[in-house]
Amino acid sequence: MISLSSNEFLETNIKEFIIPSEKVAHVQKGNSLEHALLLLTKSGYSSIPVLDSAFRFQGLISSSLITDAVLGLERFEFEKLESMKVEEVMTTEFPTISVQATFKKAIELLIDHPFLCVVSADDYFEGIMTRRVILKQLQRNIYNS
Ligand code: AMP
Repeated sequence: MISLSSNEFLETNIKEFIIPSEKVAHVQKGNSLEHALLLLTKSGYSSIPVLDSAFRFQGLISSSLITDAVLGLERFEFEKLESMKVEEVMTTEFPTISVQATFKKAIELLIDHPFLCVVSADDYFEGIMTRRVILKQLQRNIYNS
């Protein structure tokens, strides 16, 4: 990227900077908590998107949401991991962003979230925009100026 003025940088479209859906680890809302915990643990990600069978964005699931859901009065009730579904535990309190959005909009939302789910007008999951990617572009722009 050549050096841009701050305004040009903020007006950059996020499209070519998103991690495309096929490279994003995700679970389906009907998957068991056991499956989700396995994927989270193996991938090392703190949270991942939840989709439906048509690839529409539904929410996010994290290891802490799962462990909290199986926490009983005195112990973790790990047997629940098999019977409970991701949709019972996922959070839907999470902003999404359109592929037409600019860096300015993404930065505003990334202050409170390590990544954003990019969705189409009809909620199809297109990928994610991460804080790391924006910071990398910002750093590149600063060093090139
Ligand atoms: P990073 O900016 O690479 O540290 O990623 C921040 C967060 O974004 C991770 O903890 C995950 O929750 C999510 N994330 C990043 N890359 C992926 C991916 N390929 N699949 C699923 N989630 C991801």
